[in-house]
Amino acid sequence: MPIKGWKCPIERTQVPFDHFETCKARKGRAAFPPWMARHAHLKIENDVRHSTLDVTATRTMNCPRQTFIEVLWDYYIDPSKIAARERGTALHSVAAEHTDPKLWYTEANDPVRMTINGEIGGVPLSMACDAMKRDMTEIVDYKFPSDFSVRFRGPKAKKEYACQVNMARLMLGQQEWALQAGYDPETVLLTIWDHACGKQEGPLAQEAPHMTEEEILATRPGGSNHTIEEIISIHLWMVQEYEKNGAPTDIGKLEEIAAQIPLVGEPMFRGDKCRMYCDVSEICFGIVRKYGRPEATWGTEDESPSEEQHRTDGRVEEDQGPSVCSTPTNAGLQKAVGSSVQKEGSSGSPRFSPTK
Ligand code: SF4
Repeated sequence: MPIKGWKCPIERTQVPFDHFETCKARKGRAAFPPWMARHAHLKIENDVRHSTLDVTATRTMNCPRQTFIEVLWDYYIDPSKIAARERGTALHSVAAEHTDPKLWYTEANDPVRMTINGEIGGVPLSMACDAMKRDMTEIVDYKFPSDFSVRFRGPKAKKEYACQVNMARLMLGQQEWALQAGYDPETVLLTIWDHACGKQEGPLAQEAPHMTEEEILATRPGGSNHTIEEIISIHLWMVQEYEKNGAPTDIGKLEEIAAQIPLVGEPMFRGDKCRMYCDVSEICFGIVRKYGRPEATWGTEDESPSEEQHRTDGRVEEDQGPSVCSTPTNAGLQKAVGSSVQKEGSSGSPRFSPTK
């Protein structure tokens, strides 16, 4: 994530990461909380997993074009745009540190064990869980949604959350140490703790039903027109294009590749994703203005998301859930790209034509 610094929320100028320590823009006071800017900066600096084009759990449910630009462009962001996310990240740290280490594994007390390497859909992944009971009977994910989304919650976890903990459930079943410790992927409880930030409602434990790998891959995240499988395929395709072109640093070449990547984010969050929840939308829109909309299609873009997805997926969470990263192998690339790429207009689904 080559975020190079902040964009001042008031002046809109580019400023260094430590700018708010000395900023006096609001009648002698800083334009943004210095602790939060520092917290976000440290997170950006330490976020090794998202500094490359590797697939992550967040990315399987996000816009691949956004990922491509975030990794390969230098850019500045207004910290007030990511403040809600930072609140969630800070509370994750608090939760990890205060979960009883005698009963639970967390990233705070056993980060190595909590990093799971496995495969989903034939793609090698690694994943970090929020909490796992030491007796291996429960996997927990913490969420800190804003008040506007709390009204949608119920006893069942929304589909994206269920996908995330089910990725953990399936990949944990591929770990020798877990199986030896008595882990049973058929009986493990999957729990989402929804903490209802900003609302006078208490945290709610939501049940995430067990999902098969096929069900996970067929999910359309955030009201997307694309399934997780298609998003992974697009992601792997763009990595392949990037590498095929010699991992260019030339901005013109990068733009040419980015211009072919579908605008997966457009329909997400009821159409608000690009405008409100994409840090690189200005760059993306600039590429659209210069090169036009991508002619390529991928997957069943003519299919509407289900009513259930419309109902639940308009929410935007501060927390992005367990993170998964992968270094796609050639086999993984070939499997994903080879099975999913077809010329536009051909019958069947998914379909994709990366040529203009
Ligand atoms: S503006 Fe929308 S389509 Fe473009 S990269 Fe961002 S999320 Fe994707």
